[in-house]
Amino acid sequence: MFLKSVSPTVLANLAKGQHPFVAILTCSDSRVSPVSIFNLSLGEAFVVRVAGNCASDPTVLGSLEYAVSHLKVRAILVLGHTSCGAVRASCDCVDHGNLSAVMTDIERARSRLPVERARDGDSVAEGNVHLQMRRLQDLSPVIRDEVESGRLEMIGAMFDIATGRVRFVNS
Ligand SMILES: [Zn+2]
Repeated sequence: MFLKSVSPTVLANLAKGQHPFVAILTCSDSRVSPVSIFNLSLGEAFVVRVAGNCASDPTVLGSLEYAVSHLKVRAILVLGHTSCGAVRASCDCVDHGNLSAVMTDIERARSRLPVERARDGDSVAEGNVHLQMRRLQDLSPVIRDEVESGRLEMIGAMFDIATGRVRFVNS
């Protein structure tokens, strides 16, 4: 199926190198595929996926720094989504092994919301998008410098699984 949908010429060009225009940090959720959501082609987006689209892990930061420094992406999109299991686990205080590392990040986002919104998973997910956009810049001097110089745009968005729509959120 895949091989029938892509031309050998396209693959040959991609094999020479990648030139994505955007890096996307999003959740590992099986229902959230940024390449499908934005109708992107191979080579257009450098995607980092981790439960809860959290930025704290050095491998996440390092991957995005690679996209910024070496691949020269023009923007980083932090894409959260509705009905996020990682957010739900945080709200329900589910704690299994290393899942607690994911929950710590999301808990940070939840603690910044008014009490009434902190109980709503989708509000927490959106708050988490804002927080991760901020943390990418706080934790990575490479990313911060590029944003401050105007060479890199930081974008946040929420994907609504039920409607298939993407809503961009302010930083
Ligand atoms: Zn999720």
